[in-house]
Amino acid sequence: MAFVIPAPPQPDLPVAGTDDSFPVRRVYCVGRNYADHAREMGHDPDREPPFFFQKCPDNLLVGGGDFPYPVKSGDVHWEIELVLALSRGGQNIPQGRALDHVYGYAVGLDMTRRDLQGEAKKMGRPWDVGKAFEHSAPCSALHPAARIGHPETGRIWLERNGALRQDGDLNQMIWKIPEMIEYLSGLFTLAPGDLIFTGTPAGVGAVQRGDVLNGGVDGADEISITVV
Ligand code: MN
Repeated sequence: MAFVIPAPPQPDLPVAGTDDSFPVRRVYCVGRNYADHAREMGHDPDREPPFFFQKCPDNLLVGGGDFPYPVKSGDVHWEIELVLALSRGGQNIPQGRALDHVYGYAVGLDMTRRDLQGEAKKMGRPWDVGKAFEHSAPCSALHPAARIGHPETGRIWLERNGALRQDGDLNQMIWKIPEMIEYLSGLFTLAPGDLIFTGTPAGVGAVQRGDVLNGGVDGADEISITVV
């Protein structure tokens, strides 16, 4: 058997401090997981169960760097997020065992064409055009939980051109990581190689070409992109 076209490359994330790499299968994202961000987007954070969307593994911009301003948008937003990576999968994973499935953590940006997402929301259409575009998922190297543990608290922050724009704490997540894994694994069969972007605190906003974004999660990593 031969492929009739060259096989697409396997997306991956480097494992920090090693020459090893983590192959990526799917990229799940949770929406509105910090109350103050849900409010800034015009929603009531107390009423909603968690909901999810996906980006494509080949949307990853590994390690940050140059982020090309995407086509068909004039309102591209940053969202700094803690990202987790699964080493084990399954269905209906109970909260109490969820963290056993986590390989490690990274810091990512859920870059969003907010204007296209807004149109999709208004029309009752899928969010893909707003969320799953080229380079829309800048992501740092992975840090194994065996080395850094499972962060439950810690500052999550983002600066645009040196000015602080997002400044939250992981303890503000509405749905905690074990709850997220339990809920998501009730909807999908999770598998080794899956990533989950865990949501963003308040302070999202639009980038311009030339902007430098620096962000991080204390205890995990930092990431920087330049909008080109
Ligand atoms: Mn997000």
